[in-house]
Amino acid sequence: MIYLIFLSIVAAIMLIFKFGFSTPAVDYRYPRILMYHMVCEHKQGAKFNKLRVTPKHFEEQISWLVENGWTFVTMAEIASGVWLSQEKCVAITFDDGYEDNYTNALPILKQHQAKGTLYLVVNRHDNDWSVQKKAHHDSGELMREAKLSDQQVQDMVKSGCIELGGHTTNHINFATTSKEQKSKEVTESKQFLESRFATKVTSFAYPFGILTEEDPALIEQAGYDNAVLAEGGIETSPETNRFKIRRIKISGKDSLRTFKRKIAAGKK
Ligand SMILES: [Zn+2]
Repeated sequence: MIYLIFLSIVAAIMLIFKFGFSTPAVDYRYPRILMYHMVCEHKQGAKFNKLRVTPKHFEEQISWLVENGWTFVTMAEIASGVWLSQEKCVAITFDDGYEDNYTNALPILKQHQAKGTLYLVVNRHDNDWSVQKKAHHDSGELMREAKLSDQQVQDMVKSGCIELGGHTTNHINFATTSKEQKSKEVTESKQFLESRFATKVTSFAYPFGILTEEDPALIEQAGYDNAVLAEGGIETSPETNRFKIRRIKISGKDSLRTFKRKIAAGKK
């Protein structure tokens, strides 16, 4: 008897390890919006390796999405309601404008006929924006990371794989910036990106995912039609939350199993 109970416990533990604690999957009619930053190898001892998804992992993730019937969409397409008539929509989004988005991520997207949205900071070179969030984040790690040149951005837009989105001119912190300055940053960056890259810019991502109560209206007034947060999991009301759309954070530390769970349930 004791032996049988012991066996049952072992079997239960093995099942939990194999399938995880089953957080139920969120209905697949809701789009999954994934947040990435860099697609590159980790750096030894670096603070921001969670923002670095290795090219191998990124390739595995995109392949898995293709094999499992996901349709790649841009944020502009989500805002226009494409997900209402199509199950399993996934938006790949990249924040800031790191050079590896061009050298490492774009070839993988192209290979799988996938697409995504790039939220580009206008003044992205030699800009240590980490300190805008926390003063002690002054190691310059993200500042030293190579950023996309305008030519690379142009090529990405031309490839048809990438929608360009706004992320302010200087990657400002909305919680510590005046309303006037915020308006200027979101309006001017939109105009700049549209004229420099000859494309429409209607999607926006809050820098650091930080926003205050007045900001969704401010983004709408600047002419954008959707805006994403930096976390929150699966967005089930992209229409009502048009200027506060939640994203699933993909970490450089995620295994494929964790990735799959995040796609299903929005969290680990
Ligand atoms: Zn950012």
